[in-house]
Amino acid sequence: AVLLSAVAATGAEYVKYKDPTQPIGERVDDLLSRMTLAEKIGQMSQIERANASSSVIQKYFVGSVLSGGGSVPSEKATAAQWQQVVTKMQKAALKTRLGIPILYGIDAVHGNNNVYNATIFPHNVGLGATRDPKLVKRIGHATALESRATGIPYAFAPCVAVCRDPRWGRCYESYSEETKLVQLMASAIVPGLQGDPPANHPKGTPFVAGPMNVAGCAKHYVGDGGTRRGINENNTVLSFHDLMRIHMPPYDDAVIKGVASVMISYSSWNGVKMHENRFLVTDMLKNKMHFRGFVITDWQAVDRITTPPHQHYYHSIQETIHAGIDMVMIPYDYPEFVADLTSQVSKGTIRMDRINDAVSRILRVKFAMGLFENPFPDHRLTGELGHKEHREIAREAVRKSLVLLKNGKGGQKPVLPLSKKASKILVAGSHAHNLGFQCGGWTKSWQGQGGNNITAGTTILEAIKSAVGNTTVIDHAEHPDKSSIAKDASEYEYAVVVVGEPPYAETAGDNQNLTIPSPGPEVIKDVCGLVKCVVVLVSGRPLVVEPYIGSMDALVAAWLPGTEGHGVADVLFGDYGFTGKLPRTWFKAVDQLPMNYGDKRYDPLFPFGFGLTTKPTSQS
Ligand code: BGC
Repeated sequence: AVLLSAVAATGAEYVKYKDPTQPIGERVDDLLSRMTLAEKIGQMSQIERANASSSVIQKYFVGSVLSGGGSVPSEKATAAQWQQVVTKMQKAALKTRLGIPILYGIDAVHGNNNVYNATIFPHNVGLGATRDPKLVKRIGHATALESRATGIPYAFAPCVAVCRDPRWGRCYESYSEETKLVQLMASAIVPGLQGDPPANHPKGTPFVAGPMNVAGCAKHYVGDGGTRRGINENNTVLSFHDLMRIHMPPYDDAVIKGVASVMISYSSWNGVKMHENRFLVTDMLKNKMHFRGFVITDWQAVDRITTPPHQHYYHSIQETIHAGIDMVMIPYDYPEFVADLTSQVSKGTIRMDRINDAVSRILRVKFAMGLFENPFPDHRLTGELGHKEHREIAREAVRKSLVLLKNGKGGQKPVLPLSKKASKILVAGSHAHNLGFQCGGWTKSWQGQGGNNITAGTTILEAIKSAVGNTTVIDHAEHPDKSSIAKDASEYEYAVVVVGEPPYAETAGDNQNLTIPSPGPEVIKDVCGLVKCVVVLVSGRPLVVEPYIGSMDALVAAWLPGTEGHGVADVLFGDYGFTGKLPRTWFKAVDQLPMNYGDKRYDPLFPFGFGLTTKPTSQS
């Protein structure tokens, strides 16, 4: 083998796996047959950007790297700087004996959201409200281009969770509580990210069209959105039939569209952690559903199953690899992981054919996406980051995602659309002028936040200011005191009150109350008591609004709209009509939860699919 590769390096001998005219299967087999166990284990590993020095990549033959939520090379790193990071790692990987390119992954879940200046699209819950799969496909493609702009060819998206309980901190990552709607969006976003597979594409074979697309990752398999009381990473207690009926179908759609990878959920199904569920991972996903891409763990998930009776990491590795895991995201103690896995293969407690299956799947994706032919970032794509056209798509998505829940108090005439010619309006609430709040979690950092410095974009206040005529006076206060509102109350034609949830991600977002955080309710009460008011709720899920809704003249669910605040103003002022429909049931009180469309007892404040409409008006 040493001799062979030496000859290959001089270019003297034909090396089959390097020949792009060869069928992918043959390239995989050829390459696999040349690999040592250490090289195979390297391919099965995904380590963090910050730890992926050239020497580590070369020492361990590392196959994949990720930027976990918020792991950025520097706060405002440009596309070119990101490309440099990827290039350096790729050079290190290509210098190894077999020169297998590294696969760099990132959580591009609503645009390439870790990256400063990227277009941030509405989170999935808002996209569910659009009911527009063609739009979602365009968003997928724009996201792919913005990822490629940074040299990154792999996105941990889409999340195809079917969120059955909005108390779950990841509910906004789910398109809907309704399986069919999630399926519709899964079928659109996967080809958006990866490109359209040809009509005769064999089901389950990974498909990534080329260097303008990214490899996708359907997550988190399976039943992540079905945990008890919406507790993150918890137990989903369901019959097999219901698991298949409610949570499985979007995976089937993603697999049909050639999704490159599937990420396993931290959660359990009926008490068994998904990461050790051989039946669901191997028998169902790989064998029955014909998925031929690779299965990746969630972050340090192998370590997290190290609980009795598996007291030792060693057993966790064995369990997960046996279950059908192909790539391990962040083996916590990497040298120990490598040593353990090596020793288990030598002892036969993990079979070599399982290792070969795992590595074949990873290589299949790398060949399918053309990574061997195009391992380096394409500088011509640099300008795609935050591109004007992508921001236009995002703005359209915001417009279509808004759901009008109320328009006009008790029989009075509708207040929306608003007049652009008002002489004086009040804009209030914590979410009117806060880009970080507008974008939610998974924006720049894992938990979001960061206010208006978070990235480039337009807040709702800024959008309102640019929509109205220049004679309109806009007063803005997060929490105006009651006496000041009272003083000018007769002058305000109306008020726009923007309140909602602060950003959060994962377990930090679990919430058993789902009330509008303070001082939102006070602002609503103070303003709506004195001025005609439109409440815009910025949140990842329905919140308890019943106690206050009577005082509102209009209520708009804006979800987590992202950087393009203009989309909100477009619809508030009637340049476009409201068309969004609820992707979730809007409950009255949390003690009704879980409550989903189709339940026997269904007594919501607004049902799934609800949404008032308005017609566009022509005002200049
Ligand atoms: C999340 C995944 C994410 C991964 C990598 C985990 O904590 O559950 O959704 O893709 O981190 O950042």
